[in-house]
Amino acid sequence: MTAVRNIQVKLDIPEEHHPVVDATFDEFRRVTEPVIDYGWNDNPDDIITSKNRLNDATYHDIREDSPLTGGHVQSARNLAATALSNCKDLLEDGKNTSKPEFKGTVVTYNSNTITYNDDHCTLSTVDGRIRAEYVFPHGDEGTPFEAYWNEDEWEKREATLHKRDGEYYLHVAVEHVEDTDSSDEKTENGVVLGVDLNVDGYLAVTSTGAFLGNADELNHKRDEYERRRGHLQQTGTRSAHLTLQSIGDRFAEWSRHRLHDVSNGIVREARENGCTHIAFERLKYIWTRISNASKFQQWAFREIQRQVEYKAEEYGIEVDTVAPQYTSQRCSHGKCGFTHEDNRDGDEFECLKCAKELHADYNAARNVAWRLVQNWLTSGSGRATSQLALKSGTVNANGRFRPAALSS
Ligand SMILES: [Zn+2]
Repeated sequence: MTAVRNIQVKLDIPEEHHPVVDATFDEFRRVTEPVIDYGWNDNPDDIITSKNRLNDATYHDIREDSPLTGGHVQSARNLAATALSNCKDLLEDGKNTSKPEFKGTVVTYNSNTITYNDDHCTLSTVDGRIRAEYVFPHGDEGTPFEAYWNEDEWEKREATLHKRDGEYYLHVAVEHVEDTDSSDEKTENGVVLGVDLNVDGYLAVTSTGAFLGNADELNHKRDEYERRRGHLQQTGTRSAHLTLQSIGDRFAEWSRHRLHDVSNGIVREARENGCTHIAFERLKYIWTRISNASKFQQWAFREIQRQVEYKAEEYGIEVDTVAPQYTSQRCSHGKCGFTHEDNRDGDEFECLKCAKELHADYNAARNVAWRLVQNWLTSGSGRATSQLALKSGTVNANGRFRPAALSS
């Protein structure tokens, strides 16, 4: 059993920020609509209440045209899912109800969209973050506020922002920390999935040894499309123009689908290995290394990272990027770390020092994960047991090994 209490605190939001906060209420309400539309059915058996299904069907499009953060889009989705579920229950009980519709002014906040500080919080809006001071009640002795607000054993979690009579109020759920050990551990321990992206061979290779997507097929289809496009452009007739448009759309859809397979695979690997983070190489560095990458390949890499970002967010997995110094030349085996350009020969990696042989992209992916952990260690970010997720288990920052079965 988790002990949760709700407390209300009034906020002092500077006048100049009222318009963006009010616009956030409107936008939050607006983005529940496509979710409701998708999930609703007059037959209660066909009402969709699964957050995952609702998310898969709507998140991408909503995120595309809404100024809300991904965290807010997901909170709105959760709210819509709950409303749909309530309606389904009512209808199944033979009670009368209609498609849910949100009115009023409320926005849900979670750890991605609100940060609590001692005397103020910062809140995501449709236009960046704003700062809001708490207006502490006078004479709060013996009130729930005094008992829960400043006490270390109560942690602030989700909140809802409300507007009443022109004033803003935050309703904050506080949770007793004794009950929350497992989630605390998750934020202190980092487990990293490293990902190596490639313009040929496998599109993505993870530090857990998953080989995903076919870059050669993507390139081949792209060339084919370019050829047909060139030909049609020369023809120049109206019908050629229409064909051009339709094969363009079809190719875009086809390639986006292939990339979704890859991004789904990456997120699945991260989840199955209990990862808190996914690390990619920073794209601008990749383009220095692969100087002949086409605009299309650059788009594909950006698209994969973008897709992984919003899909991972749903599971509370963060995406980070690292500078890829020597990721392809460094030996990722155990504590070896020997770095030399002759270690790599095409797809083959063979360490000149310890003689370990690895698939070159798999070795690179392990190094990408390793690099993020190194960044944490040097920045003193305080993760006690940072780990890299590898095929055979996880390796902590000191190179100590834990078998996969124990690593989650
Ligand atoms: Zn080695």
